[in-house]
Amino acid sequence: MKKQPLFANPTLPFHHITKITKPPVKITFKEYVMLDGTKKVLVERVGDGSIIRRFDKTPFPRKQTDVICPHFLELKWGTGCPYDCSWCYLKGTLRFLPYGTNPHIKDLDKIKRHTQVFLEYVKESEILNSGELADSLMLEGNKKSFIKFIVPLFEGQNKHRLLLLTKSDRIQNLLRIDSHRQIIASFSLNALPVASEWEKKAPPVENRINAAKKLYKEGYEVRIRIDPMVLIENWEKFYTDLIDLIFDSFIPERITLGSLRGL
Ligand code: SF4
Repeated sequence: MKKQPLFANPTLPFHHITKITKPPVKITFKEYVMLDGTKKVLVERVGDGSIIRRFDKTPFPRKQTDVICPHFLELKWGTGCPYDCSWCYLKGTLRFLPYGTNPHIKDLDKIKRHTQVFLEYVKESEILNSGELADSLMLEGNKKSFIKFIVPLFEGQNKHRLLLLTKSDRIQNLLRIDSHRQIIASFSLNALPVASEWEKKAPPVENRINAAKKLYKEGYEVRIRIDPMVLIENWEKFYTDLIDLIFDSFIPERITLGSLRGL
């Protein structure tokens, strides 16, 4: 296992970051086996990994019947979500935190420092997922907008991209931002009866589609996630209706499907 540490001084402005050791923000690299069997040295974490870390817990598939769960980089800027979906894995994952699934943002200085070091030093183009432990838009509409804070950091370079994953329709701040080449907006949707039964606190699916459509029209890359698909009566009709609703509004760059699974 080969490790290549880099060091940066977070007290200096972004464009002046130099390879010195105090105070250090170390980028730890690790060799990963890709799905095609080749090997690549990629970032494992920045600093202590509390803000940026690769999700690499799932094993490499050995048999054709093994589950393929690709590794990805998490931008762990906050935790929680206000929507309280019945199946949400955050209920289990965050159960030992004092604030549980209530929206909670980490230290902004640390998020900025680690993100800037990553954007400056990591040469291999990456996508950072900001919606694994929190809804990416959970703070929009409040004074503390994560979007206003994070998007300009990514727009200051052209190598790495930020993935927003959300069930929210609070896109006002995204619509106000002119430059968004480095941003991917992914909306989590479900068949209408499924959403109204088990995603009761989230905005109606039609509102989410409308929000996605507005971003699409503004030139954002928009993706869709339908997860978990639930085997309700007449599921074929309801999921076909959902697909029609989506494609009547815009054309998503990608659709990710997921099945109902245990915590
Ligand atoms: S929107 Fe996503 S993160 Fe929020 S409660 Fe529902 S499943 Fe969990």
